[in-house]
Amino acid sequence: MIATLIESLHKASEVGLSDTLGRLLLAGLLVWLALEIIRTLLRIRAEHAQSRLALDKLRAQLQETRLRCREAGQAAAGWNGCRKFTVAKKIVECDDVCAFYLKPHDGRSLPPFHPGQYLTFQLDLPGRDKPLIRCYSLSDSPHQKDYYRVTIKKEKAPPDKPDVPHGASSSYFCDIVKEGDILNAKAPTGHFHIDMTKLNPVVLLAGGVGVTPMLSMANAIAASGSKREAWFFFGVRNGREHIHKAELEKLAAEHENIHLQICYSKPAAGDVKGRDYQHEGRVDAELLKQLLPSSNFEYYLCGSGAFMKSLTDGLEAWGVPEKDVHFEAFGPATVKKKAAVPTPEETSHLAKINVTFSRSGKTVRWEPAAENLLEFARSQGVKIDSGCCAGGCGSCLVAIKSGAVDYLKKPDAEPESGSCLTCICRPQKDLTLDA
Ligand SMILES: Cc1cc2nc3c(=O)[nH]c(=O)nc-3n(C[C@H](O)[C@H](O)[C@H](O)COP(=O)(O)OP(=O)(O)OC[C@H]3O[C@@H](n4cnc5c(N)ncnc54)[C@H](O)[C@@H]3O)c2cc1C
Repeated sequence: MIATLIESLHKASEVGLSDTLGRLLLAGLLVWLALEIIRTLLRIRAEHAQSRLALDKLRAQLQETRLRCREAGQAAAGWNGCRKFTVAKKIVECDDVCAFYLKPHDGRSLPPFHPGQYLTFQLDLPGRDKPLIRCYSLSDSPHQKDYYRVTIKKEKAPPDKPDVPHGASSSYFCDIVKEGDILNAKAPTGHFHIDMTKLNPVVLLAGGVGVTPMLSMANAIAASGSKREAWFFFGVRNGREHIHKAELEKLAAEHENIHLQICYSKPAAGDVKGRDYQHEGRVDAELLKQLLPSSNFEYYLCGSGAFMKSLTDGLEAWGVPEKDVHFEAFGPATVKKKAAVPTPEETSHLAKINVTFSRSGKTVRWEPAAENLLEFARSQGVKIDSGCCAGGCGSCLVAIKSGAVDYLKKPDAEPESGSCLTCICRPQKDLTLDA
């Protein structure tokens, strides 16, 4: 455009047009130039304002991402001590078993957990001077982001001791706790969990209320959308004890990689084989051999002492390597990893160890056959608090004044330094405990 005007001026002077025409053209050129400059300046200003807006937006997004990361980091790391949970829903699952849906009282996000892990509750029960501590496995998948679920069976007095009280914590949960109540719980923990980064086939073996960690594992496999093969064997007495029946059936119906096998040891009138259960009898190694294509699976077990003993023995006899068998006891261990059984040399070393309970003023020779320090202390009349007897709840923690201990199983959470979880350890050398 400029070039055209200049050319016109040139031509005008060349053809000898009057000065006036030349001046007019020059003025027109100047006006056009001024307008062009103003327009450019306005455009630059608008662009500047736009990029400032974009920068502000980016800054806000960055801030939000930072906040989310911090929140996710805090969530993933769990929380320290106890956190308050509201009982959002309580469902009676079957005879003496209730499921509790727990939402965080602070309304903030819940940390993910590994399927198989548990919560530790600190219960302030009336008439007790100290909180009662008990562990309960998370029974739903970690993909459920807005609640944790635990499923609790009321532990009745043993048949041979009908006069003793029913289980304190499980009765409290099943009989007293109601929707809207607040409970204190520590963050999910535990080494017994499935590795969700792997896709190898697994066998989940559950007896009674031991189904809770297995259901979490199966739900997690289903929710992950993977085609990981999972065989789920669940043994109960009959339909009245069939915990989470509808949920299990739906899980198997909707996921062809999950093969559910229900065993009733004593079917009740009204229980129908083929509809409610597949096998009459207990879950045992013979059944696994009949149904599994091979022994080449990773196995997860949870159930009564007898259930776990029979299955771990059966799997070992079938040639399943110890490293592929994982188990969790809801109480004192009935099955020991080979490493936990002392060799003859260890036994003779153990037999020379002195254990001193300083507060009780007792020094006694360790008995190599003793299960653990907690049991040994009790057998010597020394009182130590206890809870889960599986190294999870921390109730039996005692300070070590001198000496050292060996753990029979890895503690779920590192005990405070200078202390030991007496329910899962034995002395390594002469030992003095503050008990
Ligand atoms: C890692 C882990 C996960 C667990 N997950 C679950 C789960 O998902 N669901 C579940 O239901 N449980 C689970 N448990 C078990 C749970 O922690 C408790 O051990 C269980 O609920 C019993 O505790 P309680 O306080 O009710 O019974 P307690 O009060 O400890 O009593 C236990 C038994 O002793 C009897 N008893 C009471 N007094 C006496 C006496 N003087 N003499 C003799 N016997 C007596 C009671 O009647 C009862 O049968 C889990 C345990 C662990 C370690």
